[in-house]
Order: sequence, then structure tokens, then C-alpha cells
Amino acid sequence: MEQSNTVSPERDLDAEVACPHCERPVTVSVPDREADLTVSQYVAAFGEHSVARCPAGHRFWVYYC
Ligand SMILES: [Zn+2]
Repeated sequence: MEQSNTVSPERDLDAEVACPHCERPVTVSVPDREADLTVSQYVAAFGEHSVARCPAGHRFWVYYC
């Protein structure tokens, strides 16, 4: 008997972006695999977004388009 034990790769959707302050890579979770990420140093009043924090303590916003 054949058993297919495929692990779904879609558990967590993570993307790597560069911190706009120091350009360190920061991993953020995204709601949609197809989403385009826009990184901003400032909060803006559009769209879905989340706040990310880089290893150096910078805070920035990631928008999904
Ligand atoms: Zn940074």
C-alpha cells in the first residue's frame, strides 16, 4: 500500500524584507502568498499592513498590495 505523506508548505506564509532603516533582512508573515509587499518607514492610511521590527530595534510598516 502506498502512503502519501506530503507536508503542506503553506502552513505559514513568511516573506523576507529589508529594514528601510538599516537594510537588515527581517521576516514578516504575509496573509497571501501572491501579495506584493511594500515597506515603509512611516504609517500610511491604506491597505492591509502589519508592523515589523528588525533585529536592531527599528520599527517599520509592511503593506500588502
Ligand atoms: Zn533596522
